[in-house]
Amino acid sequence: MRRFIANPLSLRVQLLPRVVLANTRRPYCVACEPTPPQAPQAPPAPAPPSAKKSTPPSPSTATDLDHQSIAVAQGLYTISPLTPGSVFFLPHGTRIFNKLLAFMRKQYSLYGYEEVISPIIYKKTLWEQSGHWENYAEDMFSVTGRGAEGEAAKAKQEGRYLEDEEYGLKPMNCPGHCLIYASDDRSYRDLPIRYADFSPLHRNEASGALQGLTRVRRFHQDDAHIFCTPAQITSEIADTLRFVHAVFTVFQLPSYELFLSTRPEKYIGELAEWEQAEGALKEALNTTGREWAVKEGDGAFYGPKIDIVLKDAAGRRHQTATIQLDFQLPHRFNLKYRDAGGEIQAPVIVHRAILGSVERTMAILMEHTAGKWPFWLSPRQATVVPATTAPEVIAYAEAVQRRLSGVTNTLTTATEPPIPILEMATRTFFVDVDASEGKTLGKRVREAQKRRVNFTLVVGQKEMENGSVAVRSRDGKQLGEKTVEEVYQMFLELEKTYQ
Ligand SMILES: [Zn+2]
Repeated sequence: MRRFIANPLSLRVQLLPRVVLANTRRPYCVACEPTPPQAPQAPPAPAPPSAKKSTPPSPSTATDLDHQSIAVAQGLYTISPLTPGSVFFLPHGTRIFNKLLAFMRKQYSLYGYEEVISPIIYKKTLWEQSGHWENYAEDMFSVTGRGAEGEAAKAKQEGRYLEDEEYGLKPMNCPGHCLIYASDDRSYRDLPIRYADFSPLHRNEASGALQGLTRVRRFHQDDAHIFCTPAQITSEIADTLRFVHAVFTVFQLPSYELFLSTRPEKYIGELAEWEQAEGALKEALNTTGREWAVKEGDGAFYGPKIDIVLKDAAGRRHQTATIQLDFQLPHRFNLKYRDAGGEIQAPVIVHRAILGSVERTMAILMEHTAGKWPFWLSPRQATVVPATTAPEVIAYAEAVQRRLSGVTNTLTTATEPPIPILEMATRTFFVDVDASEGKTLGKRVREAQKRRVNFTLVVGQKEMENGSVAVRSRDGKQLGEKTVEEVYQMFLELEKTYQ
């Protein structure tokens, strides 16, 4: 088994046009694959930062429509030479990140996932059990515990024994989820169990390879592991494929391709087990009603997988979602369940991620939309622009901002919040006011459009008297005068329908 991993897939190029799998090592969990494939059209790597202060992503080396330039224009994230490859999401980038997670969490209720929160450091022993320490250690960050240096030396001098304090920062969630599964007795009645996890993951990428949001050392995934019986594989995979389709439809991505990667020349497990698994995946693929292709012998040594390659508006291909069957990890962690006859069986694990890396999904969506975020995902949903500097008009603009952002439920110019706490069910939106002095109305409206604000709401004396706003869309279309309540209802509808 070890020799198959120790001689991993070296640099490999997908047979698909314009997609290069740059990964040089294949870890246990391909669904949790931290290194994304790179589209060759991606901008060149940014110049290494020279100053010790945080720097924005490098705009000088990129085109206007690559995600790094869009991120600079919209103030979404920054990076620091003090922590290369780990992104600082700025407030507006954090809004998008959190919205993507909220979106996935909402779907988890529908698709039967349970979210868990798991540790990010684990003792070396765990990584030895999972096989990572042996085969993947150089891609992992090791972490030294308190006892390893001074404490341990002192204890040794005193003839005391301290346990080994070598830890690893997790590059993927699977071993942690196996520990959760193993923490209780499981019956066939409990299965399938679907654990979802948005934990930060770390991978020790070479610093020269780091790039924007697509090549990072710290990232997050919409990761999940499904523990199921062999008989449940088809339905679990079919449901996951439905989930993938639903998510890509919401993102209005033009199309995607499905590939089944089958048993490689070197494999572990029983042939019959493989045939059953591949049969289950084929059956699931057929339920989609979409075309799919086989990548013969391209599965991992421990199980077959389905790759989903999506196409963006510019026709570029990105590998995002992966669904990976795994017979091996349950054995390594001695996972069990009791079947209907009372016999002890090993579950099958399905590793699956739909967005893949959340950071990379943000980059793909930024480039796909050219930074024009759909309203529901937008970090700047509306800006209220007072047409005059009259104090009462500015006070009205601020009242409109409070009502539309959801922190008040009536339109009032009273500055004290009328309620001490927001109800959990309150819908809130990202609305600001631009009353900056020394800028004409036209300039402020143009600036809002440049920031890709979805709606600009102009208010003057007339609107103040009518309790209304003059609505202008991001592409400059005048939508006319609407009451503030009508606009709030429009926001609710846009969010509800993922527009
Ligand atoms: Zn995994």
